[in-house]
Amino acid sequence: MQAAGMTIIFNERGVVVQKGGKTLMTGEHFNSILKLNFKVGICKTENIDRAFNVTKVNYNLWHQRLGHIGKQKFIELKNKQMIYDLDQICNINPSDDLCEACIKGKQAKLPFNKEKDKSHVKRPLFIIHSDVCGPISPTAINNKNYFVLFVDEYTHYCVSYTIAHKSDVFLVFKDFVAKSEAHFDLKVVNLYSDNGGEYLSNEMKDYCCEKGITYHLTVPRTPQLNGVSERMVRTLTEKARSMIISACMDKIFWGDAVLTATYLINITPTRALKQTKTPYEMWHGKKPQIKYDI
Ligand SMILES: [Zn+2]
Repeated sequence: MQAAGMTIIFNERGVVVQKGGKTLMTGEHFNSILKLNFKVGICKTENIDRAFNVTKVNYNLWHQRLGHIGKQKFIELKNKQMIYDLDQICNINPSDDLCEACIKGKQAKLPFNKEKDKSHVKRPLFIIHSDVCGPISPTAINNKNYFVLFVDEYTHYCVSYTIAHKSDVFLVFKDFVAKSEAHFDLKVVNLYSDNGGEYLSNEMKDYCCEKGITYHLTVPRTPQLNGVSERMVRTLTEKARSMIISACMDKIFWGDAVLTATYLINITPTRALKQTKTPYEMWHGKKPQIKYDI
């Protein structure tokens, strides 16, 4: 928080977090835990005013709410009616205003690969791509240092987890497999990754063997072989970075930003899908809702 220019004042009742003389949040002792009240103070800040003041609803606000969505993807989401509550954005016209957080958050573009022939992938969970990122500095507020993602090739739906140690990849993979297999009543068949170490532990090998999952090790930095997860890592980190910058949050919140960015990517159109559906709809069988209740 200090890095973001915030001042933290401890007193006998708890704590006050200020920036530029304004109180952003207050906290009280609750047994031995400090309970922070984000809403009271932060509502007075410019960002939250922007986010919740309906009279100021405009494209820039929806650009931020949707994880710094690109103009073309916003138009596609709206024109192809890819969301349930279309009324939220039907009168919003995209502008060409530059977004500083987007510029700061973006990395060099990856070349777009020639589209792979996916005709052999006819159902969810047939091919899962995975990658691990980290260690990320600073350590997240929940003491996590890495994030792992799983992308289903057929639906392009992404699931991510934050983890403390690389060895936790096995635990979250089991969680992903159990939940997604139950969701579809289908089996995971193939797992692709270029991070050999974490995926080739004995317990992982035994588990895959038992489940009948074939592990494919792809060569690092050859996007044509494992471009799906490499591209998703880029998209996720760029979105998370832009969200943190535009909200003036400290980098220790990167874990929450990555998980939120994952959700927002799933409700964003992608050219990886031929259908006019978001990955969310491909996975859940219904259009996503974007209405924010406060
Ligand atoms: Zn932006």
